[in-house]
Amino acid sequence: MKVAIFSAHGFEKEYLEKANAGRRELVYLDTRLNAQTALLAKGCEAVCLFVNDDASAKVLHLLAQNGVKYLALRSAGFNHVDLDAAKKLNLRTARVSEYSPYAIAEHAVALMLALNRKLIRANRRVTDLNFSLDGLVGFDMNGKTVGIVGTGKIGSVLAKILHGFGCRLLGYDPMQNPDVTPYGLTYTDLDTLFRESDIISLHLPLNPKTRYIINADSISGMKRGVMIINTSRGGLVHTKNVVKALKSGQIGSLGLDVYEEEQALFFEDHSEDILQDDTIARLITFPNVLITSHQAFLTDTALRNIAETTFYNLDCFEGGIGCVNEV
Ligand code: NAD
Repeated sequence: MKVAIFSAHGFEKEYLEKANAGRRELVYLDTRLNAQTALLAKGCEAVCLFVNDDASAKVLHLLAQNGVKYLALRSAGFNHVDLDAAKKLNLRTARVSEYSPYAIAEHAVALMLALNRKLIRANRRVTDLNFSLDGLVGFDMNGKTVGIVGTGKIGSVLAKILHGFGCRLLGYDPMQNPDVTPYGLTYTDLDTLFRESDIISLHLPLNPKTRYIINADSISGMKRGVMIINTSRGGLVHTKNVVKALKSGQIGSLGLDVYEEEQALFFEDHSEDILQDDTIARLITFPNVLITSHQAFLTDTALRNIAETTFYNLDCFEGGIGCVNEV
């Protein structure tokens, strides 16, 4: 079988090669999948996609016309795939439902600690031989209230870590998870979670119901100076509303691993370009904002698991057997 791997990054090739073990012909494409690049998959029975590939109905039609039968996602999220269109076109889709919830939860904590203790600013000062401490005051995590929105695989690992810090934990999720019981997390409604939390961390999927869950209205119901962390999907946060709240001080700090317009920027080197996105340009100027480029998953364990599950999914497809990872 021939597999076209779109958005292939240098950091993942060794993991993909090892997991494939020469069983299939892999066509690495460093370009993203979209209507212009779909033809590159001609002759491949499967395509392997990453989070910012465009798997809209129009693109899926082009893939199906060119003989593609299977979408192997190298991600847990599948909000970038038009599943209805895929089903109509008999394109089966499988994801990597879990590869390392620890990687994402630990990155969320890294953002919290770096923002709280102003590590980036402190390091910049020291490299400039400025050893002053003014402006670097943080707070003890111990005793602070953290609101976890979405207590599934990643949210529950976050609860475990923050329980170790001595945080008071609030959770909101339509499906309560018994795994968080040992960590003393109290489920509450969303308004209470927003009102009482010093830190709010998002760990829920993006869908029409959750889009812009962080917006002007919800922000106005939060504690003044709240820290917001988003390692889930950019569309959960109304970025322009957040910029306004950062300017007024209603939001005290913001950690983003995802951004609603990230498709045009993330995973690529734009250091030679003139930045066209005025919203991220403004965000970058805040000393209390920390942005990483969708790298929360980027650990050795996660990359190995993503590659192994991707090829397991392809094995199931080739062997004509049902696969738990199909969506
Ligand atoms: P999961 O399915 O295990 O958990 C998601 C939880 O969200 C579930 O418990 C679900 O009931 C809950 N939920 C659904 N709608 C909700 C709502 N309206 N309000 C509150 N909770 C709601 O998923 P997971 O593995 O924990 O992943 C969470 C998200 O993390 C994914 O959807 C994905 O977008 C994101 N993610 C990001 C990265 C990264 O590199 N930044 C990597 C993997 C996953």
